Amino acid sequence: MGRIQRILVTGGAGFLGSRLCERLVEAGHDVICLDNFFTSQKTNVAHLLTSPNFELIRHDVTVPVFLEVDQIYNLACPAAPGHYQYNPIKTMKTSVQGAINMLGMAKRCRARILQASTSEVYGDPEVHPQVETYRGNVNPIGPRACYDEGKRAAETLFMDYYRMNGVDIRIVRIFNTYGPRMHPFDGRVVSNFIRQALAGEPLTLYGDGQQTRSFCYLDDLVDGLIRMMDNELDFIGPVNLGNPNEFTIAELAEQVLKLTGSSSTIEHRPLPADDPTRRCPDITLAREKLGWEPKVPLAEGLRQTIDWFRSVDIEQFRPPTPNY
Ligand code: NAD
Ligand code: UDP
Repeated sequence: MGRIQRILVTGGAGFLGSRLCERLVEAGHDVICLDNFFTSQKTNVAHLLTSPNFELIRHDVTVPVFLEVDQIYNLACPAAPGHYQYNPIKTMKTSVQGAINMLGMAKRCRARILQASTSEVYGDPEVHPQVETYRGNVNPIGPRACYDEGKRAAETLFMDYYRMNGVDIRIVRIFNTYGPRMHPFDGRVVSNFIRQALAGEPLTLYGDGQQTRSFCYLDDLVDGLIRMMDNELDFIGPVNLGNPNEFTIAELAEQVLKLTGSSSTIEHRPLPADDPTRRCPDITLAREKLGWEPKVPLAEGLRQTIDWFRSVDIEQFRPPTPNY
């Protein structure tokens, strides 16, 4: 372990952010978690509040903030389709204005800054599996555009701050990640299926269920984020982080039913607009540069996630705040 860093995690109370904060606090760093709690809640980090090296700030990244830090993980952004489409204009502002504010801070502090980008920058991909050099197939005027184009614009800003101002950047493109502390009502497929299976409700399968995703377990992903941030190779990315094992959504439904022992039925619903048909990361670059690859198989990760869903009272989770 290197020297102790002052680390800002925006979106630090969220699903990925709260696990990342835990890891960084455990490693002894001074961690500042900044969040407006749009899609999360304080309970996700409440257990860290007694740590002397953890601090929580309620703040919106679209508004400037002045802090002195060595590293910034920029995770603030709603990530589930239902969450980012709730107020699409705010989603775009969060990605773009949030990136400008955080890059400005990185420039002033000479901090290293990592952007949590997404496989959505590839849109509905025509290249399979997706490599970092692929430029994507995004519909700029569809319902997913607020997120996809916001994240693409953020990547552009990161590259321009790097080229113009020498800001020390890192860009990761995260593929579907799941695990404990997913918001039970975020509408993502893993949280929906597990919640429905445990409640004995029908599993809502969109379209024919033959569309694919590649699911990465939370701990594997967070390990990749830290490796990318801490690499001293001058490797700025973008780099794909995800699990290359590809499953159809119908296969995922079967797995969830098997692992929960549920007798829920499957209910077909229409496929949402612009829903990507196939998604799978090529992680050659992450393997080569970071020595990283996921370790947790889907069945094992699902078991952990199902145990967590069983252990919480999901009535305590609020949907996104209506006046966001
Ligand atoms: P999440 O919704 O649980 O976390 C996002 C956090 O950002 C939440 O705590 C939310 O309250 C906060 N936030 C939203 N807007 C904000 C704003 N304007 N100011 C301050 N805080 C704000 O989602 P997650 O899955 O943990 O995703 C974290 C990051 O990783 C996001 O940037 C997302 O785009 C990216 N990502 C996640 C996945 C995935 O599968 N989980 C895939 C690709 C990319
Ligand atoms: N999906 C589904 N049932 C659900 C939620 C999602 O069949 O209850 C499908 C969705 O159409 C997509 C896939 O599961 O093809 C993954 O959806 P999610 O919202 O988790 O993430 P995405 O990768 O689309 O951003």
